[in-house]
This record gives sequence, C-alpha cells and structure tokens, in this order.
Amino acid sequence: MKNQTLYTLAELDKQHILHPSTSPAFNRNNGPTIIFERGEGLHIFDMDNNKYIDGVSMLWNVNVGHGNKELAQVSFDQMQKLAYSSMFYGYSNEPAVKLAEKITSMTPGDLDSVFYTSGGSESNDTAFKLARFYWERKGLANKKKIISLKRGYHGVTVAAQRATGIEVYRAFSGSGDPDIINAEPHLTSCELGDINHPSYQNSIRGTIEREGVNHVAAVIIEPIQGAGGVHVPPEDYLQAVRKLCDEQNILLIADEVICGFGRTGRSFGVNHWDIVPDLMSVAKGITSGYAQLGAVVMRTPIMDAICEVPDMLAHGFTYSGHPTACAVGLKNLEIIERENLIDQADQMGKLLLKGFDYLNDKYHFFHNGRGRGLLTGFDLIKDPEQNITFTPEEAAAMSIVEECKKRGLLIRGFDFEPGMNIIAIAPPLISQQDDIETIISIVDESLSAYS
Ligand code: PLP
Repeated sequence: MKNQTLYTLAELDKQHILHPSTSPAFNRNNGPTIIFERGEGLHIFDMDNNKYIDGVSMLWNVNVGHGNKELAQVSFDQMQKLAYSSMFYGYSNEPAVKLAEKITSMTPGDLDSVFYTSGGSESNDTAFKLARFYWERKGLANKKKIISLKRGYHGVTVAAQRATGIEVYRAFSGSGDPDIINAEPHLTSCELGDINHPSYQNSIRGTIEREGVNHVAAVIIEPIQGAGGVHVPPEDYLQAVRKLCDEQNILLIADEVICGFGRTGRSFGVNHWDIVPDLMSVAKGITSGYAQLGAVVMRTPIMDAICEVPDMLAHGFTYSGHPTACAVGLKNLEIIERENLIDQADQMGKLLLKGFDYLNDKYHFFHNGRGRGLLTGFDLIKDPEQNITFTPEEAAAMSIVEECKKRGLLIRGFDFEPGMNIIAIAPPLISQQDDIETIISIVDESLSAYS
C-alpha cells in the first residue's frame, strides 16, 4: 500500500474502492458515508464509535445479529481443520454434506438436493441453467425463456441482472440474456385465467401465450419482493402461479435469497402460501452473512433427470460447498432453531405492523404498512386520497432514511421509480420487544421531523 499513514481510511477508500450499488461520482467526491468497525447483536458501530441499530440487517442478511461468537468459533475451528476443499471431481466435505441434509430437512416437499454457490446471483444463474438443462434432458431443448417479474430483484450476474425487474439494474451496461422477459407482478386474476383484464398481455399467463409455451423454461419469483420495495403478494397469487406453471409444464423457481431461513416468520417465504417450487434459490440468511454462501435446492424429478447424464455437469464454482462457509451455515441454522428465532421473527413482525398502524393514524403521508415477519415496509405518499406523490426534490424516502440515521437507526429507502417513496425495515431476527419499540419511536421522531 502506498503511503498508507498519510491518508485517512476514508481517503484511501475514496482512492481505491469502486463501491457496489453506490453513485461512483458521489463516492469519489465525498468518500464513504460510514466506515464500520464492529458489531454486537442488533448494533453496529463506526470508526468513531457511533452506535447504530441495524434496522435492515445490513442487506437483509445478518439474521442472528452481529458479533455472534459461536459463528466466529465454528469458523475458526473449521479453518484449522480444513479451511477449503473442492467439490469438483466428486470430492466432498463433512460440513457441506451435513448442511445439505439440514437445508433439505427444512425445505418443503421433495426439494431434496442442493447445488452450492457463493451467493444469491450465482444461485439464480444456476437455477436458470438447471431449468434449461432439465428441459434439454426431457427432449424439450427449445424451452429456454425465463419469465421474471417487474420490481423483482435477483442479483447482478448477467442473467440474474436481466431477470431483475428494476429498470436501472436491468438496463445496466446493456446487460442481457435475451431469453429473460419481465412480466407484471401480482396479477392474480390474469394468472387464474381472466383474459379480459387490461394488463393480461403483460401477466405471466399472457407472456407465456405470447412467447409460446414450448419456449418457456421457468418463472422466477420472490415470495415477497424485497429490494423492489417489500411487496407482499395477494393471498391467492402464489398458488395461482404454481397452478399455472403446472398446467403449462413450466418450472417455478422461488428466489428465497431474502425470505429464506426465517426472515418472514416461516422457514421459507413460500410456506406462507403452502406451495412447493421446483427450484429454490437461497443465500444471505443461510449464514447470516458470516460467510459467503448460496445454494439452489431442487426437487427430486429435476435431480433425477440431471443425474441421467453420463458427462460431467459443466457448471460449478471454486467456492461451491466451501467447508468453512458450510460449517458456518450449519451452526447458523442450529442457532436459529435452538433460539426459536423464526417464531420470534413472526411475533416481532406483528409488533412492527402494530407500530405501523400507530404511525398510519398519526401521519397523513404514511401509507400501506406491510410485511411478514421481519421483512416490512411502508409507503410515503404526500396525499394518499388524491394519489399525489412526493416530488423527487422532496426526496421523502431518503430524507427519512437520513433522519433515522441521525437518530442512530439504519433503514433503507427506495425511490427508483417516479413518485416511489418506500421505506424498508428488516432488523435481525434476534430483535426483542423493546428493540421494536425503539425502532418505531425513532421512525416516529424522524417522520415528525420531516413533516
Ligand atoms: N435475490 C434476491 C431476492 C436478493 O435480494 C439478492 C440480493 O439482494 C440477490 C438475489 C442477489 O444476491 P447476491 O447479492 O448474494 O448475489
């Protein structure tokens, strides 16, 4: 490193790091907004010892909270024993096998086989490839198209980014797998067959009709859309999509990267609607962010069809089944189970929604508090009756995020569409009643300061 002592960390960051999902110009001019140093439970501290409540579990992933010593210990122990070994050429390792057994004991139905990745984007790209490969094995090699939903977020590798239905991502760097098409989300009646609905053409059903069922491999959905602004589907929606996929001989991929492993107060988001997808992408909460790990879980018929192939599977990552990451994952799932964190998330989520009811009564511009478990959000609408939204200059969501930050609470705001002002709150699953009350009271003060 050149002349390290002459520079502050912030200056070095500014000089040497291109940040993900950040304005590079902002960063070059201003440097990083916060440099974190340590974490403890719900809290995260910066270099100046400022303490924040991590109200979105960083990127919806630090589910057991920060500074968990058991996870540090298991990582240390596994690294001493066997930090890394490959899964290529039929090699395996103990933590990877045990974790696969654990994951498949939690997933619904016959989602019984696991392919390991290093994160969510890789999981989704893998799911697309496996879906296409499955149809090839079935003699239907033209089934290649993937239908995803607007406002869905599936990651940033080339295919996952194309599947992402947030325009700024979908269009970035001309990214493209041309066989990935965005449909309108949550059109329950269309998916149930209402061809007279004004948006029918852009529903999943309308898209399948347009593209031709013989060309469609899979539909990918988040059970609850996260980075698109926390959108909970209507009650019958996921069942309608499952039924549609069955009727049309199309695979259903559930992107459980945020929802999976307890965030929504159930083991998986799909458990709220009792459906079994054909493939499930997981990451984030599988290790609570303590190690980089993802996976695709697939149903038995898919695994069986893939296993008929005599040649090698031409897909895999250096870090597929990383022993240390898997040991951390296994311990993390053990902690979630032992501490009853999934039920706790369910209870604390209900408390958050009660807090939203209180804020809804108090602030005219607070609207549509929603969520399941500890995946929650609300809209800021200037005049909900007249449907008048805040202007970009009013920057409602980002102002609330800043007001909360001043008061020691990190939350997330979304304004990627004109008029959109959404706030997401998704604290770690270890949150207790007084933590939820503190979060609501800081949001209350922040809304008050903004109004
Ligand atoms: N899928 C969903 C639902 C996500 O929220 C994310 C990340 O936020 C991803 C996929 C991508 O995961 P990763 O950033 O680990 O590649």
